Amino acid sequence: MEYSDGFEIQQNLIENEKRWNIAQKIAHIGHWDYDLGTRQFWGSEGAFDLLGIKRDRDTSYIPFNYIIRQISPCDRNKMKEMYRYLLEHNNHYDVEFQYQREEDSEIRTMHSVAELFWDVNGKPLKIIGVVQDITERIIYENKLKNKNEELNALYEEIFAADEELKQQLDETNKHKEWLALSETRYRTLVDNSSDCIYSCDLDGVFTAVNEAFCLLVNARREDIIGNKMKDFIILSEGERIDKWNNTVMHVLHKKKTLMYESHVMTTEGISYYNITISPILDFKKEVIGITGSNHDITAIKLNENKIKHLAYHDPLTDLPNRTLFFDRLKNAIDRSRRSKTKIAVLFFDMDNFKRINDTLGHSIGDELLVETAKRIAACMREYDTVARLSGDEFAVLLQNIEKVEDMLSIVQRIQQKFNVPFYLSENTIDLTTSIGIAMYPEDGDTPEDLLKNADTAMYKAKEQGRNKYLFFHFTMKEEIIRKIKIEKLFKKAIQHHEFVLHYQPQYVTKGKILRGFEALIRWNSPELGFIGPDDFISIAEESGQIVIIGEWVIQEACYMIKKMNERYQTDLIISINISLLQIRQKDFDQMVLGYIHDYQIQPHNIELEVTESLFIDNYDTALHALKNLKQAGVGIALDDFGTGYSSLSYLKKLPINLLKIDQAFVKEIDPINPQNDLTEPIISLVHKLGIETMAEGVETEEQLNYLIEAKCDYLQGFYLGRPVPEQEAEEFIKKLVL
Ligand code: C2E
Ligand code: CA
Ligand code: CA
Repeated sequence: MEYSDGFEIQQNLIENEKRWNIAQKIAHIGHWDYDLGTRQFWGSEGAFDLLGIKRDRDTSYIPFNYIIRQISPCDRNKMKEMYRYLLEHNNHYDVEFQYQREEDSEIRTMHSVAELFWDVNGKPLKIIGVVQDITERIIYENKLKNKNEELNALYEEIFAADEELKQQLDETNKHKEWLALSETRYRTLVDNSSDCIYSCDLDGVFTAVNEAFCLLVNARREDIIGNKMKDFIILSEGERIDKWNNTVMHVLHKKKTLMYESHVMTTEGISYYNITISPILDFKKEVIGITGSNHDITAIKLNENKIKHLAYHDPLTDLPNRTLFFDRLKNAIDRSRRSKTKIAVLFFDMDNFKRINDTLGHSIGDELLVETAKRIAACMREYDTVARLSGDEFAVLLQNIEKVEDMLSIVQRIQQKFNVPFYLSENTIDLTTSIGIAMYPEDGDTPEDLLKNADTAMYKAKEQGRNKYLFFHFTMKEEIIRKIKIEKLFKKAIQHHEFVLHYQPQYVTKGKILRGFEALIRWNSPELGFIGPDDFISIAEESGQIVIIGEWVIQEACYMIKKMNERYQTDLIISINISLLQIRQKDFDQMVLGYIHDYQIQPHNIELEVTESLFIDNYDTALHALKNLKQAGVGIALDDFGTGYSSLSYLKKLPINLLKIDQAFVKEIDPINPQNDLTEPIISLVHKLGIETMAEGVETEEQLNYLIEAKCDYLQGFYLGRPVPEQEAEEFIKKLVL
């Protein structure tokens, strides 16, 4: 029984140990003790399993150092420290450490709790503890920790996002307010704009319109929005729909604003618009519609047109002006070059306009120009152009001329129109016109050349007598070139004393005694040669230089008289030709009397020859000067009588004492049929007025005899003596009688 009891106890112990070991295995736990005396380490089956130590009954003790060695180096010192602490403070420990198992080299995390035990003497005997493998728990815990961290991070993120959202919401609310305000402002602007403003989507359905638009289409806003654009005639009938469509297509395609000008016929006339079309883009920059505005520019446009019209038209007659004429001529030249047709440029100048303007006043002059313009325009074909170039100068452009005769019939028609007098403000006015014609391509191929050559031909037509037309000829051009040269060299000629006076003798018919000379100017130009007065006097008159030259002639003539009087004790007369412009100079009379005084000659030694035009134009100052001179004893002769307006009735009123019968009359003298002749009756009539007569241009003996018979007082002409230089004139004086 003792044995069996002992056996039974033994069996129970083994059973208990087994149970104990199983329990430890399940709990991943083991217990151990460490004998401080032997320094041996004993572990339960569970403990050795956990620590990876193979165990059998006899070797359940292992050196403690082995355990220490297997502890991971990072935790080894910590463990040593724990032991020391345990021993020194009689305490227990609770520690976690990394442990490398020898059998599978796996590093595991262990949790160990231990306590110190003493012997009866209080000497430390052993340390008893438990060890538990908490690797899985730690891994799980770490995982959990990581998850937690992740969750924390996520939470923080969410929190931050939430903050941001809150901020964004705040801002959005602010934006909303701002947008609402801006929309109100915008709407006020749009609605109060006089421009029509509208928008529509891609289907052409209205999405917004302003007041002005509603007014234009005469509909309410709610009746417009949602309806198709084409249902409202915003482009109006006359509008070019194509242009609108093309522009819209462009705007949609290019995503850019485009603008174009358009016009619409309304009951009140024509209206002009600037149409602006812009794309409406969504936030992805896709086009979702268009917005348009029509800005009324009618006023600007009409003004512009007015200004344009003024720039290209003459304000008085409303005819095209020089600029527009040049433009049309240039285009006509281009067309004719292609079609090989002819163009004619007609240059008009009214023959006596200046005189009419001066005598009847400028307002009648203006009326006359307007009437003239109408008469010329009435003869034109549809595609011809009449222009007013300046003053009384008009130009006509005739295109598509096939035969010169066609063109001539137009010219003649114009001339016929001028044969009828103008009736203006109770005045009957006879106006004729001289016409110069230049043809393309013969006479030039630029507008400038054609007009200049037509002008030249007109100038020549005028020279040949008025109311004529003349075709341009290239010799005319040479003459004009010469004229330009003369003009250029003229000024220098005065300074260089290139002028000389020639003297043509004049005789007293009774007794054939020398009366004196007519002083006739000549120009000895080193560049142009010898030039007669007919070639330069008119140029000098046009430029005003005649005043200077004329004064030189007066001075030179006075000097000549003085010399002749002194040398030959004569009392001769020198006639001086005076231009209108000279007499119109202030103090002309004083100037003439001044020279007479300076050269100590008698006033009756000087005779001034003036022409009728002077009196017709009735210049008071001129008349006044001549009267003064006549009173002072200076002779006044009316030159070229018979060429101009020749009216005997007014002769009496003029301050003249001599009438020079023009060469033309003398040439007409027909001794065989004296009854046809006008010279004799003129002479006797003039005599009755107390005026003496002198015949010019006496070239033959017959003429001389006739004039003696007709009782003409004085005679002048080649037959009696040509104009000669000063020295030769002296020869006449020496002889004195014919
Ligand atoms: P005018 O006053 O009629 O002068 C007479 C012109 O007839 C002169 O021409 C003279 O040479 C020319 N003549 C004289 N007798 C005869 C004749 O028997 N037969 C022909 N066929 N001709 C004759 P000229 O010298 O060439 O002068 C032309 C014109 O120039 C003058 O015409 C005059 O109007 C102007 N003139 C000449 N000298 C002056 C001047 O000093 N001042 C101004 N303002 N004009 C002048
Ligand atoms: Ca003369
Ligand atoms: Ca004359």
